[in-house]
Amino acid sequence: MHAWGYRSVATLEAKVVDRYAFERRRSGRHRRSVLWQGAAAFSDWFHQPHDYEWIVEHRSVRHLHSIIRAVFSLATLIFALTSAVMLFSPRGPQALELRLWVVFVLVVQIGVAVTLVVCPIPRAAGWIAFAVFGDVGLASVLSCYDSTAALMGSGLFVILGAYCTFFLSPRWMVAHLLFSCGFVILTAMRAWMAGEEHHASTLAMTIVLLTSIAGVPIFAHVAWTAIAGDARRSARDPLTGLLNRRGLESAMLDIWDDAVVKNESVVVAMVDVDKFKAVNDVHGHDAGDRVLVDIARRLDRIACARGVAARTGGEEFVVVMSGDRTDIELRLFEAVAMVHDNGDEVPVTASFGVAVVEPGSSLWHMGRSIVSRMLRMSDAMMYRSKSAGGNQLTVHPM
Ligand code: GH3
Ligand code: MG
Ligand code: MG
Repeated sequence: MHAWGYRSVATLEAKVVDRYAFERRRSGRHRRSVLWQGAAAFSDWFHQPHDYEWIVEHRSVRHLHSIIRAVFSLATLIFALTSAVMLFSPRGPQALELRLWVVFVLVVQIGVAVTLVVCPIPRAAGWIAFAVFGDVGLASVLSCYDSTAALMGSGLFVILGAYCTFFLSPRWMVAHLLFSCGFVILTAMRAWMAGEEHHASTLAMTIVLLTSIAGVPIFAHVAWTAIAGDARRSARDPLTGLLNRRGLESAMLDIWDDAVVKNESVVVAMVDVDKFKAVNDVHGHDAGDRVLVDIARRLDRIACARGVAARTGGEEFVVVMSGDRTDIELRLFEAVAMVHDNGDEVPVTASFGVAVVEPGSSLWHMGRSIVSRMLRMSDAMMYRSKSAGGNQLTVHPM
């Protein structure tokens, strides 16, 4: 995993293969029945890959981390508050052991609420644990109430459904829905048999609950994952799986911010394949595409963990890294050698232009605006390498 939440080419390739599998399954669906099409759409939604880190590390979400933690903490406290109030209700837990259990869950809920505020935003396992605790904790507390109160309290599953919509995969969402709807149905049967309410009232309450617990999150999750998928694809180059120019802009700012915090150098390398037009002319466009994918994979490996590689034009790439300047420059010299391999189907070379800004540089104070200046400088350096015959690297410390 890259430090800024961008996936390696290998991971993306696996996902591209997945997508083609989807496309193949989709072809010919229009000839099938509506029921079959619905099942197929559900299967696509259910099996799609889910990236927990992308959701919380997305640029538009990152600065909201403390608000997100505060909202979930508050929601957990509301659960605890309702359990506390029910301790005084005649419909609440009566037997001593049931009261003790509710108090125990209540104390854990308060602990979880405090943890959410104090600790950094959780990772995938933390989000899943939170949902499981929410579902199981709520069901166990409601089971201590009389059946009508338990049925009314099941409305709180809607909050957990909203949570699953935003953070969890379709698989976990379905697990949550099966669990919560199963609990509501069992509780409704308990209420029906106890006869505390008129059967019609119990039935109406159950219908309202099932519709809000299951219907709303499913609709919201399908819409949200479709939009999130589009947002992810818009930052990627479909041929190589690297970031495109738009994705690079945002990643570069992240790298800059990170370097400022760590007081590290930032290096931008512009890479242009030499005489690439001839590759297409002699070997064909498909061979040219394979060359581009190969170069992308090598540059991604070079950038790995220290930054990002992007494809910004036809046969033009940009690598941005932060860290120790000498170390990165050595890596980039290695990259020049890596691009050219005589064992390749079509051996090619590339010209590299590199711009470096160190923490001691007079331009360091320019802040984020330095990033676009570095791009222009690395481009100028790349042309210098190219006019010197290509297959080389020119560095300019700024
Ligand atoms: P130079 O050494 O000066 O960089 O020459 P060049 O031939 O590499 O550069 P030029 O800009 O003349 O040609 C770039 C070529 O890249 C032209 C275009 O057909 C090809 N190209 C652009 N995008 C793609 C692509 O996605 N796939 C393939 N196969 N070729 C592409
Ligand atoms: Mg070019
Ligand atoms: Mg070129």
